[in-house]
Amino acid sequence: MYLKKLELKGFKSFPSKTDIVFENGITSIVGPNGSGKSNVLDAIRWVLGEQSIKSLRGDKLEDVIFIGSDSKKPMNYCEVVLTIDNKDGILDIDYSEVSIKRRAYRSGESEFYINNKPCRLKDVKELLLDTGIGREGYSIIEQGKIDEILSNNSNNRRKVFDEACGISKYRYKKQEGEKN
Ligand code: ATP
Ligand code: MG
Repeated sequence: MYLKKLELKGFKSFPSKTDIVFENGITSIVGPNGSGKSNVLDAIRWVLGEQSIKSLRGDKLEDVIFIGSDSKKPMNYCEVVLTIDNKDGILDIDYSEVSIKRRAYRSGESEFYINNKPCRLKDVKELLLDTGIGREGYSIIEQGKIDEILSNNSNNRRKVFDEACGISKYRYKKQEGEKN
């Protein structure tokens, strides 16, 4: 399983449709300060279901939508599509390629799609459980994350190990069961 492509439209500093294709191996994103490198990571986090606007470095929901510039009008919505290679079947879905799409409007509505089929945030979350790449995953190690894991309380530290061992989903199912 690996990330194949990220498509951005109207997300933060990317008003025009921008495709970023990840080739095999390591990809580095380089550029001057303020050119949008961190925005690319924010887009990955956002499409995977990040709900905390603070961790996307914004104050309000619509801060992820292109705000406009001297030459370009503000956008009314933004859209991010992440395509994941699933030939090894790590994602529990019968497709060798999986695209997750999220779209948000200034009015506050947010939509999710898996392989172009409308779905709920919950479906995205469940698809990514135990793969390490979800909202609670460990595949995005941002500044301070290692310190946080080391100094965090034991329950939170355990979540990292649960995810790595592939047992988060059982804990999740138990919690969901208890709700019903
Ligand atoms: P650094 O090297 O300093 O970390 P960076 O390449 O990571 O920089 P980002 O933080 O990704 O830069 O991008 C910041 C830029 O994105 C700023 O110029 C900011 O104005 C722009 N930006 C953020 N949100 C929006 C938005 N909603 N609409 C338009 N531009 C935005
Ligand atoms: Mg940055």
